[in-house]
Amino acid sequence: MKILVAIKRVVDHNVKIRVKSDGSGVDNSNAKMSMNPFDEIALEEAIRLKEAGKADEVVAVTVGGLAAQDVLRTALAMGADRAILIKADTIPEPLSVAKLLAAIARSETPDLMLFGKQAIDDDCNQTGQMTSALLGWSQATFVSHIVLDGDRARATREVDGGLQVIEVTLPSIMTVDLRLNEPRYASLPNIMKAKKKPLEEMNSADLGIDIAPRLRVIATEEPSGRKSGITLSGMSELIDKLKVEAGVL
Ligand code: AMP
Repeated sequence: MKILVAIKRVVDHNVKIRVKSDGSGVDNSNAKMSMNPFDEIALEEAIRLKEAGKADEVVAVTVGGLAAQDVLRTALAMGADRAILIKADTIPEPLSVAKLLAAIARSETPDLMLFGKQAIDDDCNQTGQMTSALLGWSQATFVSHIVLDGDRARATREVDGGLQVIEVTLPSIMTVDLRLNEPRYASLPNIMKAKKKPLEEMNSADLGIDIAPRLRVIATEEPSGRKSGITLSGMSELIDKLKVEAGVL
């Protein structure tokens, strides 16, 4: 059983996002970058499956610039066996990333491919589903529990209003949700050991895939700030405001 984990390097979730002055996008210059939090959960699950004797190999793969080596080294320190960096000058759109990851999946032939449910920078929630469609593999999205059973897997999905359990045939694509597990921190000895683990690099162009953008960003805006609250004198003033100002009564 081989598990491939798709990992995206994104702006760290603690960083306050700034929009570029010309509105063309988000200003990432000098921002701390990290592994997408949902991808940490995906990787943690793959490592746990290996530790439980259910998987033999965990491979982390990312599409990004040379700087994305850092998240792959973190993945190796957490417990991945090896890593693949598909180099691209700019981070391609989800469809292009899906095509590149599908190409890697065809050559690596994993039994299971784990994705985050979404990348916290673009919030697209598309890449896993697109990869599944390109490969013609089964998919389970928003997964909060995984049980492997021979050539099948049972996945518990977080759906509106509850949980849904589905069975899929392997090879399969799963996109993972927050409650699947709590990712570990890499220990210092493992960070040192990770430096010697294999990290393969290739160019996206070598995979023969056109990653030209098909989307155009028209504008990027800061969310409108929240107005400060006010203290009301009592219930009658509240009812008056709800009637007159908010118009909801
Ligand atoms: P998205 O569709 O952009 O919200 O991303 C969903 C998931 O796809 C992420 O959590 C990652 O697992 C994977 N993914 C997206 N972009 C990349 C990338 N550049 N490299 C590797 N995996 C990616």
